[in-house]
Amino acid sequence: MVTPYKHEPFTDFSVEENRKAYQDALDYVGTQMGKEYPLIINGEKIFTDKKTTTVNPNNHSQVVGYVSKCDQELAEKAHQSAQEAFKSWSKWDPEARAAILFRAAAKIRHRKHEFSAWMTYEVGKPWVEADADTAEAIDFLEYYARQMVSLKDGVEVNSREIEHNSFSYIPLGVGITISPWNLALAIMCGTASGPVVAGNTILLKPAKTATVISYKFMEVLLESGLPDGVVNWVPGSSAEIGDYLVDHPKTRFINFTGSKATGLHIAERAAKVQPGQIWMKRVITEMGGKDTIIVDDDADLELATDAIAYSAFGFSGQKCSACSRVIAHEDVYDEMLDKVAKKAETLTVGPTNFDNSNFMGAVNDEEAFKKIMGYVEVGKQEGRLVTGGTGDDSKGYFIQPTIFADLDPEARIMQEEVFGPFVGFAKAKDFDELIDIANNTEYGLTGAVISNNRANLEKARADFHVGNLYFNRGCTAAIVGYQPFGGFNMSGTDSKAGGPDYLLHFLQPKTVTDQF
Ligand code: GLU
Repeated sequence: MVTPYKHEPFTDFSVEENRKAYQDALDYVGTQMGKEYPLIINGEKIFTDKKTTTVNPNNHSQVVGYVSKCDQELAEKAHQSAQEAFKSWSKWDPEARAAILFRAAAKIRHRKHEFSAWMTYEVGKPWVEADADTAEAIDFLEYYARQMVSLKDGVEVNSREIEHNSFSYIPLGVGITISPWNLALAIMCGTASGPVVAGNTILLKPAKTATVISYKFMEVLLESGLPDGVVNWVPGSSAEIGDYLVDHPKTRFINFTGSKATGLHIAERAAKVQPGQIWMKRVITEMGGKDTIIVDDDADLELATDAIAYSAFGFSGQKCSACSRVIAHEDVYDEMLDKVAKKAETLTVGPTNFDNSNFMGAVNDEEAFKKIMGYVEVGKQEGRLVTGGTGDDSKGYFIQPTIFADLDPEARIMQEEVFGPFVGFAKAKDFDELIDIANNTEYGLTGAVISNNRANLEKARADFHVGNLYFNRGCTAAIVGYQPFGGFNMSGTDSKAGGPDYLLHFLQPKTVTDQF
């Protein structure tokens, strides 16, 4: 009997002992830089000649690791090993599969700061953000393991006197998990372990700037007793192996988290039936966001300031849940803008791998840096730069918290996902207009309303069309099992990671009637 699920607590870094423990982990991981990593196919470690180099975004001359790159031939080998492993793994007792996830969760918990420290080096995470990422990975393992146990006997259906009917769930087959770099451990772990505990086998293709942390997770899975071939680890380029794996006739599902453009590309390719393919592929996507915080005329502006600042600039706004638009009632607009700008100016930007003094580290890589700085130029045409707008990529990819004001809600920077420390302000004359503007993007992931007016909050409950809606708090930091996470419209298939029906995406129900 397992204990009830509870989310993993976060580390309190105001405690000296905890700071010291994290510092020790950083020191240790610092000695592990620049190693080479193999692919893992059917349990076999394969080093290839072509490598991806991952670097510390806070100091791009520091190599974190050299990771072997999978080509098409090896991707095919990995697919075949997943097909083979599916034959036995799919028949394992669900409780035995769940036990592997519980064991993996325990192992990560024991080495928690070490995992977080890897993310501080590889994706530039501030300590608090890295700690939350590792905690969320543990949560996914704990939560999906329990969910599989609860689904193992199926669901009761009716039977007449002449028959006995049963309704149970069986896994789908071989899937492809394509994971993002931002929640480098958590989302990669959740989107891999969910399908796997449900009895599927997968090929895991991690994001190219977050491969070493993914390898570390693979080590834990194998140490926890995961059989060979159940998760095949295949970092590689989208052009070389991504399309190949999506198109593969024996691919049963694709579990993708990343940009809208890539998600739509995958959905389109997966819809085409290939020679020898005998099913319709399932595509589960978690894509972008253009997430809004609404500030009502009676809002607590102190609370709103903290909510906006953390949601917009936490981990440099590199979350699909991040607040990138503030729509404030015209009566409080100027004051709100002023408070958030003053707060933003207190947020420190700099390396996160020496100590815990900087609120924000560098953005992910050169591509991200250029994209965000490009939007700064767009913003200057479209609105008024209030603070930030400057970057320095000489050592790491640092960008100051940036605020644009007085924007037309249709402006590009109010419609397109920037994925950086970048937020735009617009005003509205009443609550209806606040909601209308909040809804006027193609996305529908997260949103928040800061208001003391209960009737307005109820209106937002019904009319603010986002998958994760928050009242009187920020719009990031959903917790597994507490705030199932996923969005509407172009934000994806709303498959709610960390939600009570997540595993059903990777299962198919079977009805058996035994007539007497
Ligand atoms: N689940 C995360 C949150 O609530 C965001 C996930 C993402 O950025 O993909 O902040």
